[in-house]
Amino acid sequence: MSKRKVSKACLSAYHNEVTGSRNLLEVSFVDGRTYHILVDCGYFQEIEYRHLNYMDDLDPTKIDAILVTHNHIDHTGLLPKMVKNGYRNPIYMTQITKQILPKFLKDSADQQEDNAKYLRDKYPVEAWRFHPLYNEDDVEKTMRLCRGLNYGETYEILPGIKVTYFVNGHLLGAGFILVQCEDHLMKPINFFFTGDYKLTNPFFTVPDIPAWVRRLELIMVHESTYGNTNSKDIKVCFTQNLLEAFSKNLFILIGAFAQGRMQEVLYDLRKLQDKNLIPEQYEIWVDGPLGIDTNYKYQKILNWFNPETSDFLPKNLQIVDPKQRNNILNSARPRIVVTTSGMLSNGPARQYVPMFLEHNRAMIHLTGYAAEETLARTLLDAKRSEMITIGGNVYHKRAVVKSTREKTSHVTLDGMLDFINQFDDIEFLAINHGEESVQNYLACSVKENCPDVEMVDVLNRQHVYYIYQMATAQDRYSNLVIKKAPSKLEMDFPSERAQQIMNKKEKQKYKKEKRREEKRDRKKAKRKKKGKKRR
Ligand SMILES: [Zn+2]
Ligand SMILES: [Zn+2]
Repeated sequence: MSKRKVSKACLSAYHNEVTGSRNLLEVSFVDGRTYHILVDCGYFQEIEYRHLNYMDDLDPTKIDAILVTHNHIDHTGLLPKMVKNGYRNPIYMTQITKQILPKFLKDSADQQEDNAKYLRDKYPVEAWRFHPLYNEDDVEKTMRLCRGLNYGETYEILPGIKVTYFVNGHLLGAGFILVQCEDHLMKPINFFFTGDYKLTNPFFTVPDIPAWVRRLELIMVHESTYGNTNSKDIKVCFTQNLLEAFSKNLFILIGAFAQGRMQEVLYDLRKLQDKNLIPEQYEIWVDGPLGIDTNYKYQKILNWFNPETSDFLPKNLQIVDPKQRNNILNSARPRIVVTTSGMLSNGPARQYVPMFLEHNRAMIHLTGYAAEETLARTLLDAKRSEMITIGGNVYHKRAVVKSTREKTSHVTLDGMLDFINQFDDIEFLAINHGEESVQNYLACSVKENCPDVEMVDVLNRQHVYYIYQMATAQDRYSNLVIKKAPSKLEMDFPSERAQQIMNKKEKQKYKKEKRREEKRDRKKAKRKKKGKKRR
């Protein structure tokens, strides 16, 4: 028997749940060449995981290329850290993402000092560790490495490694990424990274994935954010809520993320305006520098990408002068204010919420998921006229507070299953980017509903997958072999351990103190008794 040739890939993830997206692909060819490709380089945004941004578990000088799926900080926010620590190779993304990315990375650089301070307070034992991860200079250096690619065109980014981006409705500029690892005379190993995705978008049509891709033998890395929610579970009510508010002449505050959501909300308002459904007395205002900048970028990009929707801003849209925010409700005419942030926890929203909340002719509308323990959630859960504490001050809830999940930019479970079933030959579906329970739920749903998927598992920090393509000298075709192995990544952040040790010490100290107190109390009681007897 002739000698077998083997080309190999190793797929791993550096994150567990929703944010901090980083997937590493290590490709080894028969001739011994090995390449490391990182897909996304995201920032951990959840408060409980934020310290993980400081983990140095990836050597930037060993990475040969980075591929970015889309412009969200949980997919891009650690790029400047990589560059600061020595990454010098290209960073690939779509042309559109390359245009929108810089402002968002600069905004993230601006927030570094606040984040570091928060972590120094939370982990005092290792306070020395928490300094700003990068600054605006690092962002500039990062942008110089960025390369914009066209949708649908295949680029050979490294010898034998080809990359193609396909339109994805998650966000303007987002892409599904096909990575084809082609070894000489061997059958290629193909990876398809969905990134965050949706199959519709208000600004453009999402075309089907081409048939040649759907026929490929694929390893698919698949997101799962809404992997336990069906489209029918999401109530569509935004327009109805607005119409009701208009009929009562309410002042309206709408919180929205700077990219995607804000433009979508403004486009909704424009469509209502075009149908004469917004009463004439209403003024429409927008606030939040990052959001406003993105509005203009959208106009410019849509001009060539999809001109039909480039004129999406409401007529007579006005920009709030930050000095005038406090006067926004001092108007005889009712107003709609669209502002960042989506969760109302950052940006101008922090100034607006107390004012609108205490106004009995106002509505506050959330346009995204309100996570537990956020201001958005507190506002929703509180009853009318209940007292709410914001930044140390107490306010009465007099406004109407509404929310909707209909503006999500993620595909729901039913859409995921339909999407997966369009592909003929998924050898392995690796699920990531979702809460743990949701990832498992999706894995079960795929097993039940997708007969063409050979193997399904969750991809997280605990395991890696080795994918072998084996062939004899004569035989070009063979089946893939996939093996799961424990990952060599450190599971805990050192700070977490330090925190536990500190807690232990604190507990011991507390117990000692308690025992001393009890002793003192007993002595006191004894003395009292004696005194009483003497009297
Ligand atoms: Zn994401
Ligand atoms: Zn995203």
